[in-house]
Amino acid sequence: MTNPLYDRLFGAHLGRETPFLHLPDGSTLTHDAFLRLSSRFAHTLSDCGLAPGDRLALQVEKSPEALAVYAACAAAGVIFLPLNTAYTPAEIEYFIGNSGAKLFLCDPAKAEALRPVAQTHGARLETLAHGAGSFLALAEGRPEHFAPVPRAEDDLAAFLYTSGTTGRSKGAMLSQGNLLSNAEVLTEAWRFTDADVLLHALPVFHTHGLFVATNVMLLSGGSMLFHPKFDAAAVIRDLPRATAMMGVPTFYTRLLERDDFTRETCANMRLFVSGSAPLLAETHRRFEARTGHRILERYGMTETNMNTSNPYDGERRPGTVGLPLPGVELRICDDTGGEVARGETGVIEVLGPNVFHGYWQMPKKTAEEFREDGFFITGDLARQDADGYVTIVGRAKDLIISGGLNIYPKEIEEVIDAQPGVAESAVIGVPHPDFGESPVALVVPEGAGPDLAQVEAALAAALAGFKQPRRLVLVEALPRNTMGKVQKAALRETWRDLFA
Ligand code: ATP
Ligand code: MG
Repeated sequence: MTNPLYDRLFGAHLGRETPFLHLPDGSTLTHDAFLRLSSRFAHTLSDCGLAPGDRLALQVEKSPEALAVYAACAAAGVIFLPLNTAYTPAEIEYFIGNSGAKLFLCDPAKAEALRPVAQTHGARLETLAHGAGSFLALAEGRPEHFAPVPRAEDDLAAFLYTSGTTGRSKGAMLSQGNLLSNAEVLTEAWRFTDADVLLHALPVFHTHGLFVATNVMLLSGGSMLFHPKFDAAAVIRDLPRATAMMGVPTFYTRLLERDDFTRETCANMRLFVSGSAPLLAETHRRFEARTGHRILERYGMTETNMNTSNPYDGERRPGTVGLPLPGVELRICDDTGGEVARGETGVIEVLGPNVFHGYWQMPKKTAEEFREDGFFITGDLARQDADGYVTIVGRAKDLIISGGLNIYPKEIEEVIDAQPGVAESAVIGVPHPDFGESPVALVVPEGAGPDLAQVEAALAAALAGFKQPRRLVLVEALPRNTMGKVQKAALRETWRDLFA
């Protein structure tokens, strides 16, 4: 009997005394030590009454223990449900209630605030942190070997909740096969081997840090420099020991802000990957000028893992997310699901072994997001060039329709961002009595700031009249979540009465 996800990612390393995690205190956890810990955890899950198919939710700080819970869930057939550490108890209430989690692991410091939430929904609460917590205590002395329960590729391995950028978070049901197939494709596409050392500064509750970075390193057998969070100085100190890094665009802009981030810092590196939010073409170019490295941008989402990637060997084209990954079928469609002509803008739809099994307890929402032929409607607007490269132009929900005409915010943002004195911008649609909605640009200044008349002149020269932002507003910063995603829904809320 087999358990494909466990066998390939974890079981394959049994007895290997090779480094898996390099921790901030200078210590190293070997693959074998990690597996012995996760086996003890798997026994503890059974002790707590969890059976295959039950859910375990956890909201804990990034630690080797958090990953060991993931491994234990895979071994025990328990569905793993990691939660953003920033969520408040009121937010956690929804996830515990929605998922029906039987066991909830939280940070010891938050136990008091979260106990009522767990109680309301009949979930058992235990605590966990690095080297501490009641769950670790329960695991003390349990056997260091656990026979993984039999699983098939279609069995669910995780519920991962989406980031909540466009609305309420949805629980994406991901199977063993979803996770494994993507890990295999990415390991191959990005040439990961057991000689790799990945600098890991992403959170492990999101698909990027968990199912992209960690799964790839588990499959390839390499090790990770495991940073508790992104700290530019710490990253610069550690990069000379690394061969690869995966990050969100803000990692790269923050590194570029520092003079001590140089070509020498990256001398040992072979790959920088970016995703989760759009990487400006300008950042790509500045990064290459500074380091000699061309950042490899890829595109994915909670529901599908990774869909496209710029090539490892071929051309990494700035401003694009590259080509569909092997096994992923991608098409660009209009609202009715008909493919648009090459080069035209439409919504990305994908089909493949990476695509999730639907939203947990949201059959209506699930049905709405899938076509009859099985393609998943991503909600991301893009165009595909003749040679297959995909350029994302925004989200369908951020599309502005003014006087019946479509306006893609990115087109306007690119013109504004290119002006001197502009750090970045976000264009949103604001309700307007005459036009339905009208574009408004929120502009973050840099240095002495932009000459707004000059920005308006540049927009007038570059774009049709109906696309001109009705207002340019200087703001100190754009609201972002932990993954560096600009919160346009929040911006629309803030500015909704501008033309009222
Ligand atoms: P929600 O679905 O709850 O609104 P979310 O879509 O932000 O939240 P995630 O699954 O974390 O939640 O993010 C996936 C989205 O991130 C994609 O649909 C896409 O819009 C965006 N994204 C990911 N990678 C890139 C990229 N390289 N360039 C542009 N956008 C990207
Ligand atoms: Mg989404």
